[in-house]
Amino acid sequence: MTRKRYAIVLDTKKCLNCKACTVACKFENNVSVGDESYRIWVTEMPLQGTFPHLHQEFRPSQCQHCENAPCERVCPTRATYKTPEGVVLVDYRKCILCKACMVACPYDARFVSLRHEAVEKCTMCIHRIREGREPACVETCPPKVRSFGDLNDPDSEVSRLLASREYYQLKPGKNTHPRLFYVV
Ligand code: SF4
Ligand code: SF4
Repeated sequence: MTRKRYAIVLDTKKCLNCKACTVACKFENNVSVGDESYRIWVTEMPLQGTFPHLHQEFRPSQCQHCENAPCERVCPTRATYKTPEGVVLVDYRKCILCKACMVACPYDARFVSLRHEAVEKCTMCIHRIREGREPACVETCPPKVRSFGDLNDPDSEVSRLLASREYYQLKPGKNTHPRLFYVV
């Protein structure tokens, strides 16, 4: 049986900047509710065009679950690791809070968790995936910006989107090979 390769595809043209994904992630993962730490955020990109024909991209972002993950390489205790499906996770028990991964991550995706006393970030909701459910951000987003699925399944929504649409990835020059794709 072919190993799964999980990915998230985002269609930012649909994003309303409502931040329901940010809130859903906070509650689903109990991310220090009440403080300013987020596993997901939405960047308001600069306005494009000339008045009155203006548009603005709202770009949701999170850990890119890089195939070539610098955070994994620099972690001295192997607290950061990758599942067979390519989800990058942190074993909180092994984290010594040296913060090397926070420095190495080009996407600023990691922060110190007071609750775990370790570095944390997006887990792609691995606990939900293992129950056959979608990540909370995917399920919650009202206009369905995100699609989640297996790149090794040619019939998955993510495979079909990437086969039929142009897409970009964040900071390609960093050679991280993210598992998040932004269709245009
Ligand atoms: Fe954008 Fe969906 Fe997040 Fe709202 S929930 S900010 S529409 S990605
Ligand atoms: Fe690691 Fe940052 Fe890539 Fe996530 S986005 S896998 S934290 S380097």
